[in-house]
Amino acid sequence: MKTTPLLLSVFLCFFASLSKSQSHSINSVKSESVSYPEVIAQYQELTNKYASAQLIEYGFADGGKPIHLFVISPDKIFNIDSLKKIGYTILLINNGIHPGEPDGIMASLRLSQDLLAGKEILPKKVIVCIIPIYNIDGALETSLFFRSGQNGPDVVGFRGNARHLDLNRDFIKCDSENAKTFTKIYRAWDPDVFIDTHVSDGADYQYVMTLIDSQKDKLHPTVSKVMQEKVLPYLYKEMEKCGFPMIPYVNVWGESPENGMTGFLESPRFASGYSALYNAFPFVTETHMLKPFAQRTESTYQFLKISIRLCEAHGTEMRAARKKANAMTANEQKDFPLQWKLDSSYVDSLYFLGYKSIVKKSEVTQRDILSFDQQQPYAKNVAYYNTYKSVLNVQKPTAYLIPQAWHEVIERLQLNQIEMQQLKRDTTLKVAVYYIKNYNTGKTAYEGHYLHNQVSLKNDTQLIQFFKGDYLIYCNQSSNRYIVETLEPQAVDAFFAWNFFDGILQQKEWFSDYLWDDVAQEILKENPTLKAEFENKRANDSTFSSSSWAMYSWIFERSKWYEPSHLRYPVYRLDRKIPDSILIPVSNKISNH
Ligand SMILES: [Zn+2]
Repeated sequence: MKTTPLLLSVFLCFFASLSKSQSHSINSVKSESVSYPEVIAQYQELTNKYASAQLIEYGFADGGKPIHLFVISPDKIFNIDSLKKIGYTILLINNGIHPGEPDGIMASLRLSQDLLAGKEILPKKVIVCIIPIYNIDGALETSLFFRSGQNGPDVVGFRGNARHLDLNRDFIKCDSENAKTFTKIYRAWDPDVFIDTHVSDGADYQYVMTLIDSQKDKLHPTVSKVMQEKVLPYLYKEMEKCGFPMIPYVNVWGESPENGMTGFLESPRFASGYSALYNAFPFVTETHMLKPFAQRTESTYQFLKISIRLCEAHGTEMRAARKKANAMTANEQKDFPLQWKLDSSYVDSLYFLGYKSIVKKSEVTQRDILSFDQQQPYAKNVAYYNTYKSVLNVQKPTAYLIPQAWHEVIERLQLNQIEMQQLKRDTTLKVAVYYIKNYNTGKTAYEGHYLHNQVSLKNDTQLIQFFKGDYLIYCNQSSNRYIVETLEPQAVDAFFAWNFFDGILQQKEWFSDYLWDDVAQEILKENPTLKAEFENKRANDSTFSSSSWAMYSWIFERSKWYEPSHLRYPVYRLDRKIPDSILIPVSNKISNH
């Protein structure tokens, strides 16, 4: 077993005095959340009162209500290009993706009020952007009975949106209008730091706040270094100082945290995984559902406040790391990981404040059930597995070519401000193609899809006919990770995995057996090698030889009658530039508001 001493020392150092800090200062946090109209009304009031605040409508939720962005700009500048040029650090906070977890909604509103009213000092060179409530649809569907077991508030919103989607799985596929609106906001502001606020269930322990920082090995190394050496130490230390010691999100390795914990791997379908594609500093706050709502909201408030101070203290370094990472992603990085796996040979240690786990017999099921005894707190080191290795990499091509027919994919690329060009005229090009050789498909519906996985490919080079208006995307962009991880069919959250290309999986050209019989006979006669292969298979494969259809199909698939586009992945890889004279640039620029 190996250890990575950096993390070990960080956590040991910060958690040394945690057991004392059980009394939290709760001030002015209401025990109940406020409704969507009230939240927006209060942000509107701030906008009316303070010139350094603006409430902007960006787009819509599936349910039809507008999604807002509230911006606090201490110097009253709201033009994004100007802000970037001057050198502001941009923090984006997303709330209410799961409206039953309203801590961030309340904390952000109170923090905005406090900053603007002068109770807290307005940050210097930091722009605070807040999505007050992202899943408005879910926030409007309230119940006393959602979030079973959660310690307040009494009335909470629903996890799904108006199309019953979990928006925290929708950042790549963008099935919802909510996600499309979010993408516009995200790409327009291109935040340096991104925070998605949540409430967690699962194992019980002493901490109010747990934190997901985007998986360190998956982040760009330049960003990851600043994250590990500057950002995380700052956040953990400051949270401890204000009475809310944190621990990484408790993702248990065995049955309870005492058995060890695993770092959370967030693929791009999740908020922080998406944000990592753009070399940002992404976080997910997860307060624990068994802690009182007021305490949870207060800890979220403190975390957000500390994050603003983090942007003041380390904004320059974070922006410089991002700039360098973006340049390297665009120009130097050739290999892009598509799949990751935990490497359990690396283990760290976390000083952990837990509750003893106990096993009792359930009267209902008559089986053992694991629970946690709050009367038996403990403090001890537990194993922490947080090293991931890429298990599948791909070399980026010079460019991808996508026929305009796949407009749902083009729409998502454009929403993400991917630079692309269109062919000026019809043309035939020699390109690298993939055939989908094998894949598995999930048996149950997952977020409106039947996800494909374990995709294997066969490579080929072909002359493909392209038409005027088809799209060319050069892989020389800071968005290369988004481009490669959505367009390479073996990536976990590729558009292929999310069913965007399912049309190609089904054969379209067929035959009538009584007509095909003569043709098949002719084909075998003309091709002795094929004939020998066929006869060998017929002699040795009883399933094959018992089905006329199987035997005819086998010959059909090896004939010129079989369509070449069956199973051919319709995003093509180009290993060279093509003349500018046959290209038209496409504008993807999204206006400020
Ligand atoms: Zn959540």
